[in-house]
Amino acid sequence: MQFFTYRQEGNVFWGLYHKERKINFCRAWEAYHTQEGLSREIGSLKTPLDAINSGVFLARKLGPVVDYIDKFELPEKLLIRGDFEVLPPIISPSKIVCVIRNYKAHAKEMAASVPEEPIFFLKPASALIGHKQNILFPRWLNSRVDPEIELGVVIGKTCKNASVDSAMQYVAGYTIILDVTARSLQGQDKERSWPWTRSKGLDTFCPTGPFLVPREIVEDPHCLDIELQVNGGERQKGNTSDMVFTVPELISAASKYMTLQPGDMIATGTPEGVSPVVIGDYIEATIEKLGTLKITVSSA
Ligand code: MG
Repeated sequence: MQFFTYRQEGNVFWGLYHKERKINFCRAWEAYHTQEGLSREIGSLKTPLDAINSGVFLARKLGPVVDYIDKFELPEKLLIRGDFEVLPPIISPSKIVCVIRNYKAHAKEMAASVPEEPIFFLKPASALIGHKQNILFPRWLNSRVDPEIELGVVIGKTCKNASVDSAMQYVAGYTIILDVTARSLQGQDKERSWPWTRSKGLDTFCPTGPFLVPREIVEDPHCLDIELQVNGGERQKGNTSDMVFTVPELISAASKYMTLQPGDMIATGTPEGVSPVVIGDYIEATIEKLGTLKITVSSA
């Protein structure tokens, strides 16, 4: 069950990638509810975030619609036709919470210790780009730039002071996040004890997607293979089982300090193998069950 957000002719819609076909899930949702004689009011959901906010981004709610598509052998009217642009699954979250050094081997390669508690920073929503879009290097930028593949957790319900035991109920689903860093710029700022905001927050420095997969489909987010390739060559390869702090531990810790809103994302850290990219590079970021996020590197 791989959902995506897309723009076509100026409007934003909810898509489903199913059996190698791209389906207008807004239409599928409406068709299903009409067929079943159910309320069409809820059929006006336009994006996955609408579904999250309405409390229906749940496998048990979405599954019957997918079954309906299969049962009627995918009515032609449900296919997405013509050009469209894949957007980040969540277009404008209130925040993207990132955690540093959450894989031991990555902390080691950065010559840094493993934190005793999660250390967070934020990326702005203006850094988000979607599948098959470009990381843009500003002309003035004279810095090494590193992409880090990370499991992205999308929050489904308002969450404050969640306990570790209760934290998973706040998860809507999962996606892939590239935490891109202007590393030399970050180094300069570290030396001056400046925050990391600019080196982590540049426009286009947070590719996300392509899909948002409901929580129940993933089952356990701590046993997923995770791999980053650049120009077809392996750079990062690991498994989310190597996280220092687990998804519920990160949600619990973050929600102690800030209220997590529906659609907010947590980038859960990256495995070892972080290395730079240059203009012209082609990045493929893959996480088991979540698909492959394809991004190119370009000049602004
Ligand atoms: Mg990172």
